[in-house]
Amino acid sequence: ALTAGIVGLPNVGKSTLFNAITKAGAEMANYPFATIDPNVGMVEVPDSRLQRIDEIEPAKKIIHTTFEFTDIAGIVKGASKGEGLGNKFLENIRQVDAIVHVVRAFDDDNVTHVSNKIAPLDDIDTINLELVLADLEAVNKRYAKVEKVARTTKDKEAVAEFKVLEKIKPVLEAGKSVRTLEFNEDEQKIVKGLFLLTAKPVLYVANIAEEDMADPEASKYFKEVQDFAASEGSEALAVCAQTEEEIAELDDDDRQDFLEAEGVEESGLDRLIKASYKLLGLATFFTAGGKETRAWTFKKGMKAPQVAGVIHSDFERGFIRAETVSFDDLDKYGSMQAVKEAGRLRLEGKEYEVQDGDIIEFRFNV
Ligand code: GDP
Repeated sequence: ALTAGIVGLPNVGKSTLFNAITKAGAEMANYPFATIDPNVGMVEVPDSRLQRIDEIEPAKKIIHTTFEFTDIAGIVKGASKGEGLGNKFLENIRQVDAIVHVVRAFDDDNVTHVSNKIAPLDDIDTINLELVLADLEAVNKRYAKVEKVARTTKDKEAVAEFKVLEKIKPVLEAGKSVRTLEFNEDEQKIVKGLFLLTAKPVLYVANIAEEDMADPEASKYFKEVQDFAASEGSEALAVCAQTEEEIAELDDDDRQDFLEAEGVEESGLDRLIKASYKLLGLATFFTAGGKETRAWTFKKGMKAPQVAGVIHSDFERGFIRAETVSFDDLDKYGSMQAVKEAGRLRLEGKEYEVQDGDIIEFRFNV
């Protein structure tokens, strides 16, 4: 499964946020064995469409799809030189598919900051620079090797890779992340093969004060983070980690009451889960009409047989077709019967690219 790794300087609120995640995950009735690794926290992906489908096609159970966060132990300056737990830190980042970068955006004299001042952009810089340096080392090594092969053999692949390396190197040398560059499809494949840390998608999370929850934009720290994120084509989110941890254990009604009192519509954790899911290019399809109404995760771009394999490998092997209704159609027509009568039930084959919100019944040979 794809996972997002939580990183940040010491004392910015990572553990607090991760605790909120694990507490919320512990509430999941359907996943008693969810936590295997103490550094992995599994959460349900909130999705109001499940309730609506279940209203139309009532089932015994509603099952959300899940999503994993990985807690990555603290980084210090000098990680790229192997200082502290540096190497392990970089190795752990290499394993994740996306980065959730937490920065401190709250004032509190009782909580010390590693560099003694609240400056989210400096914090972001400190971490990003370590990742840039690690990437630069990897790229420089590769550059020397590939340059030689490209020059002497004129091998097509080597020449193509060398071009990409020539594009990346000066950007890293300028202290910038590889994700700030744009690549065409062929280049993307090459970049993927380089396993660079700064090529991974990032979500910047500003850990704001409780007072700022109702209006995060009013926080100058959050504004700074937002502007920086936009400058590299990333997204930023404001959450108050401490509050999220406090409310993670409440039942849904109590949590909703609390959030309303704070003047907030949706919990920060829910927004974080949704944003991370999107960051990883994940999407949801549904199964309904049986014992359970259930959401499942697939990666955007996957075709119907592969998506069937998310449920069971037999479904993929014996795939015949996907009987598909979009959520919007079911919502609009109000019943499966009405959807069929309107001619909106689709029989999709092997080449069909599944869309977010599809409600599917797979037909397969056993
Ligand atoms: P980590 O080192 O990044 O994992 O940081 P922690 O989660 O351990 O948090 C460091 C300190 O900041 C702890 O004392 C937390 O209670 C406190 N803290 C975390 N989030 C918040 C917050 O949103 N507001 C305030 N005032 N304190 C927080």
